Amino acid sequence: MFDHPDFDGHEGVHLFSDANSGLRAVITVHNTARGPAAGGTRLWSYADPKDAVTDALRLSKAMSYKNAMAGLSLGGGKGVILRPDTEFDRVALFEAYGRAVEAVGGKYITAEDVGVSPDDMRVIKTQTDFVAGLDDGPAASGDPSPVTAEGVFRSIKVAVQHTMGRTSLKGMRVAVQGLGHVGYGLCEHLHRAGVHLIVTDINTAVLQKAKTELEAKVVKPDAIHAVEADVFAPCALGGAISSSSLPHIKAVIIAGAANNQLATPEMGEACRARGILYAPDYVVNAGGIINVAAEVSGSYDPEWVRGKLEGLEKTLENIFVLAREKNLPTNVVADRLARKRLGLSV
Ligand code: NAD
Repeated sequence: MFDHPDFDGHEGVHLFSDANSGLRAVITVHNTARGPAAGGTRLWSYADPKDAVTDALRLSKAMSYKNAMAGLSLGGGKGVILRPDTEFDRVALFEAYGRAVEAVGGKYITAEDVGVSPDDMRVIKTQTDFVAGLDDGPAASGDPSPVTAEGVFRSIKVAVQHTMGRTSLKGMRVAVQGLGHVGYGLCEHLHRAGVHLIVTDINTAVLQKAKTELEAKVVKPDAIHAVEADVFAPCALGGAISSSSLPHIKAVIIAGAANNQLATPEMGEACRARGILYAPDYVVNAGGIINVAAEVSGSYDPEWVRGKLEGLEKTLENIFVLAREKNLPTNVVADRLARKRLGLSV
């Protein structure tokens, strides 16, 4: 583990299994300097269980950076559940996972991520108090996805204003990869703003909905990055910006919800060299964790959430300005700022 390329001095890497429910899970705590580590839980099928560990290591580090950049009193952590290969009892699985979260002793607070819903959070809550993103209770914040979508929408506007000097998105073309909880919500914002949508997903039902409701043009999943568009918004899984996809990207802005969009950090420089403005993912997609942080604080205040989203816009603009002044890739500028805030070596 200590030699793993994605190990970054993580404070804890916990593996859990439960024979009765079929649970196999990884909980990683990257850094708690700013507070308890918070980050969602992902339920996903992995070809190799080692990929789940890699995912958890990378995602928890991104959570530390994300929470620090959003100015939250939270550290970075992540939970990954390996989706059982055979049919499973979802309630039993999430009960076992709730016991795993409890066993980490409050160093990790969970919420939703890919493949996990507020219903699952309710089940986890039966086993531990270290859970947020609930849809009932005194400070319940519910599904964080709509706030994440709003943060991505605001970020696209900041990026457009920075590169093109325009405040309106009307008539622009945005390519959205992944129409899940966040991606579809983002498309709704963009549609209301008069954007022409080009979309894809591996789930065909949602594509039909986007066509009907949002007048979206649908393309195949392997074509979305290469379409004629002003903005490319990766909202599926990580690694959308790679040495094989980047040369085909025609958009001048990349801003989306997915975590770990750059397949390698060097892709940030590759974007810069191609004149593409990359909006660092963990800054752009902090809306959800901001919403969760409001719940963790004990009293949900929508005005506080709005203020934090405005702060996110200022942080992003600051990154763009610094990157331009210093002639550096935006991901490098963001990482340096985040590590400084975490008291880590740059
Ligand atoms: P989701 O599971 O609801 O949606 C993901 C969508 O991507 C699904 O519709 C899925 O079918 C689609 N997809 C998967 N692989 C694809 C492919 N190869 N091509 C096209 N589509 C594909 O997840 P979500 O909650 O919307 O999150 C989306 C991304 O945003 C994830 O990377 C997640 O980690 C990140 N994120 C989410 C939140 C949040 O609040 N939900 C917050 C921060 C970051």
